[in-house]
Amino acid sequence: MSADKFFNAITLLRCPVCGAAFSKTCASLICINGHTFDPSRKGYVHFAPNASPSQYDRDLFEARRRILEAGFYDAVINAIRTAMPKKPDVVLDAGCGDGTFTKRLQGKTTVGIDLSKDAIQLAARGGGPILWTVGDLTKLPVADASVNVILNLFSPAHYAEFTRVLKPDGTLLKLVPGKRYLEEIRALMGDRLRKETYSNEAVVSHLSERLRIADRVPITYSLPLNAEQARDFIRMTPLTFGTCPETLDATALSKITIDVELLIAQK
Ligand SMILES: [Zn+2]
Repeated sequence: MSADKFFNAITLLRCPVCGAAFSKTCASLICINGHTFDPSRKGYVHFAPNASPSQYDRDLFEARRRILEAGFYDAVINAIRTAMPKKPDVVLDAGCGDGTFTKRLQGKTTVGIDLSKDAIQLAARGGGPILWTVGDLTKLPVADASVNVILNLFSPAHYAEFTRVLKPDGTLLKLVPGKRYLEEIRALMGDRLRKETYSNEAVVSHLSERLRIADRVPITYSLPLNAEQARDFIRMTPLTFGTCPETLDATALSKITIDVELLIAQK
């Protein structure tokens, strides 16, 4: 049964409300203070029932999944894999979205967490061993010092929680967009772009206050794309939030630039 994977990993999990360990009762995870969560038959646990809906939606995640499956991020995934220890025991993908990256960067045990229920339902579709959770990064449902690798890819961070759950020799791999990331879509947006340029330095400086940055790996390349893929890129990027995607001419895009930086950090 798809809920069993959560009970098998019960010592890795902890109550996101009070931080206590879980035990199993009938088909539920229950902590000593009576907080109860039921793994869904669809293969995920909803740890944040009061979360407000996120601005992400199913269309966006499905567009993103098509783009990832078409290989546009393969070089990025390979770079992340190279930075990971071989077969880590526990990987936590903090802000995992629809889980496409997570599935390709698994450890022996892998937890994926995202506040979007749409994204997690999409991730859990098709089964598999990954422990998918709907939850808040500020209250990770994971035990102290239990994680070898935290992935934090194109997602906000919560360093107090990351530091709590990382093992003493654990690694945080954080992926942030670079200056030229999707520059073709920026050009297409023209005046409608809310922020003209983007810099990583605030993110890097915030991270360096909490963890030691061991390395920064830039990854930059351009790939050709067709009109349908151009429409998917326009749909999936936060750059176009607040703009009607249909007002942008996808046929004007013949290539797309991926420019990201992988930050490798340790305690
Ligand atoms: Zn509790």
